[in-house]
Amino acid sequence: MKTIDVNGTRAYQFESFDANAVGHGIYTRFGGVSEGIWKSLNTAGTVGDDKTAIAQNHEILFGAFGRPLATRFDVWQVHGTQIHFAEAPRPPEQKHMPGDAIFTDKAGVTLMMRFADCVPLLFHDPVQKVIGIVHAGWLGTALQIGRVAVEALAERYGSKPQDLVVGIGPAICGDCYEVGEDVVRRFEKYWKENYQQFFKQKDQSLYLDMLGANEYVLRKAGVTQIEQSGICTAENLHEWYSYRKEKGLTGRFAVLLALKDEA
Ligand SMILES: [Zn+2]
Repeated sequence: MKTIDVNGTRAYQFESFDANAVGHGIYTRFGGVSEGIWKSLNTAGTVGDDKTAIAQNHEILFGAFGRPLATRFDVWQVHGTQIHFAEAPRPPEQKHMPGDAIFTDKAGVTLMMRFADCVPLLFHDPVQKVIGIVHAGWLGTALQIGRVAVEALAERYGSKPQDLVVGIGPAICGDCYEVGEDVVRRFEKYWKENYQQFFKQKDQSLYLDMLGANEYVLRKAGVTQIEQSGICTAENLHEWYSYRKEKGLTGRFAVLLALKDEA
């Protein structure tokens, strides 16, 4: 990945995304105005942070990204598999709809999602000119939301899996993400097979590799162009929020993705 620093913010970008066709950024903690455990570019309004600071952070974020805040489309991320196809930005007065995958083929929409350990999946179909962000936590991964997204793209926009470019963003890694037996049971239920390889026993504890599991799901769905960030949120707290490492007392970093207008 490469980094772009603008006005104190820092965004990571995948090398494999065509910068002429899409703008994208996985924004770190840097450059915002939030204090304390939310320091500093927290974008979530549901984690106890000051509302004025969050609003200011959104202005800073979109300013750094170079798109108007009024183009924002975001949802209430609930760890399901509900998909939204954005035809227009979300009007500020309209409540967030629950969902964990957002797609658009409109250049006037900036897709936004919030993360702290869950896996961000960024999609670009350069042929059908469609983009999307998926939020895959352990439950979304168990539900194979990556495959659900690939199938939805095919149905809605005619996207072929082999045309898709997918970036798997910073998230908690398989050495850091300790889980319980209940998580294994869900994988057993939804995956039926081949899930064991993503669980690792270390001392008396069980660890889940969500990054590997999501890549596996995408490859099974026919996606061949996949780039992993290789960044673990829990091991890099100076840059990222980590829900697990910080015991829930933290903010959420933003992922932004937008199609560029083609003249
Ligand atoms: Zn790690």
